[in-house]
Amino acid sequence: MKQPPRYLIEHQCPQCGAPAVLEETDRLFTCPFCKVRSYLTTGDYFRYMFPLAKPADKPLVYLPYWRLKGSLFVCLPGGIKPRIVDVSQQAVPSPFFPASLGLRSQTLKLRFVSSDGDGLFLKPTLSFKEMLLTAEETLVSGLAGPVFAKAFIGETLSQIYSPFHVTDRVFDAILNRPVSPALPDDFDISKLPGGKPDWRVEFIPTLCPDCGWDLEGDRNAIALPCRNCESLWLSHAKGFNKMEFGHFPAEGPDSVYLPFYRIGADISGINLASYADLVKVANMAKVVQDGWQDKPFHFWTPAFKIRPQDFLLFSRNLTLSQPPKEWVPKLPQGEILSVTMPVTEAVESLKINLASFIKPPKMLQVLENMEIKPRGVVLVYIPLQKSGNELFQPAFNLRTTRALLEYAKFL
Ligand SMILES: [Zn+2]
Ligand SMILES: [Zn+2]
Repeated sequence: MKQPPRYLIEHQCPQCGAPAVLEETDRLFTCPFCKVRSYLTTGDYFRYMFPLAKPADKPLVYLPYWRLKGSLFVCLPGGIKPRIVDVSQQAVPSPFFPASLGLRSQTLKLRFVSSDGDGLFLKPTLSFKEMLLTAEETLVSGLAGPVFAKAFIGETLSQIYSPFHVTDRVFDAILNRPVSPALPDDFDISKLPGGKPDWRVEFIPTLCPDCGWDLEGDRNAIALPCRNCESLWLSHAKGFNKMEFGHFPAEGPDSVYLPFYRIGADISGINLASYADLVKVANMAKVVQDGWQDKPFHFWTPAFKIRPQDFLLFSRNLTLSQPPKEWVPKLPQGEILSVTMPVTEAVESLKINLASFIKPPKMLQVLENMEIKPRGVVLVYIPLQKSGNELFQPAFNLRTTRALLEYAKFL
C-alpha cells in the first residue's frame, strides 16, 4: 500500500535547542537529547513555512496556502462514496502566484512560522470555510444524482507559507526562477495586507492536570492517559480537558485496544432515540423486545485515523451493535492504540454514519434537512483479538489489520 505524501518539519527543542525532525502529525514531542516532553498546540491552525537555504539578498514575500487533508464522504442514491482528499490552495487568491504548492512540499522540509520571520507574510484573504466549500463543490460536481448528505472529516488542516521575490515578475525564491509573466504596471505587492507573522507554535507541559504525573501517548496522540490517577485528557488550544472513558475487558491476553467515541445526539426529522427505533430505521431482521424502547440510542465512531472506507464500516457495524454500557471506567492494561481523531471531526461524520444503515433507500431524502446535535461523548476502548496480522472483534463485527493501522498513522 502506497503511503500518502507527507511533510517533515525541522524543529528545535524548546528546552535545550537541540534540532529534531517532526512528522506533520506529531503532537507529543520528546526531545531525543534532553528527554523533556512537550505537547504542540495552536489556537486554530498550525502554520509552516519553507525556509531558504541561505539568507535572501532581495526582499521576500511569503504567500500562504491552505493545506487540507482528510476524508470526504458523499451520500448518493447509489450509496456512500468515500475518498481521501489531499489539496493545497492559495489563501490569498492571485493569478500571479502558483495555484498550489505542487510537489515541492514532499521534497523540502518545513519549519514552524515564528514572529521573528523575515519578509512580508501576506495575510490570508480566503477563509478556511470558503476554501472548504469550493473544494467540496469541485469534488462533488460531476457525481451523478442528488447528494443527500456529505461530510468532510478534516484530519489535517494547516497554512503553509512559500517564499517569493517580486520585481517585474514573481520569482520562486527557492528555485530562483520566474513563475509569472511580466506583472501589470498597477501591480503593487505592498498594497496587499500583511506584515510580520503574529503566530508561534505553543507548547504545553505533558503533566496530568489532576495529579501532576507524566501523561503517556504516542507522538501523534491527541488524548493522553494518566496511569497514576486513571484519567484521560483530550488536548485543546490551551491545555487538556478531562474526558469520560472506559474499556471493555479483553477475553484473551492477545488483544489491542482501539479507541471509539460513543456519542449521544438529538436527531431531527426521524425517530431515533432508542434501540427499538434503530431496529425500525435500519430495518433489522429482529422483533422488538420489551425494554428496547428504554435503551437509549448512541452513535459510535472510531477515535483514530483509518482509511475512509474502514471508518465507515467501523462506524456502521458498531452503531448497529449498540455495545452495552458495561465498560469498566479504567484504562485497559495492555496495548492501546492512541486517540488521533478529534471529537469535532467524529461529530461531523454522524449523518453519514446514519446514511450507511438507514432503510429503505428512499428514506435517504430525510437526511437533507436533518440536524444532528451531539449531547455527550464517552471514549470507550474496545479490544480486538490478534491473529497474525489480523485484528478482529466478533461481538461487534469489527475487523482490520496491523498494516492498515500503520498506514493510517500518517493520514
Ligand atoms: Zn531538548
Ligand atoms: Zn493523574
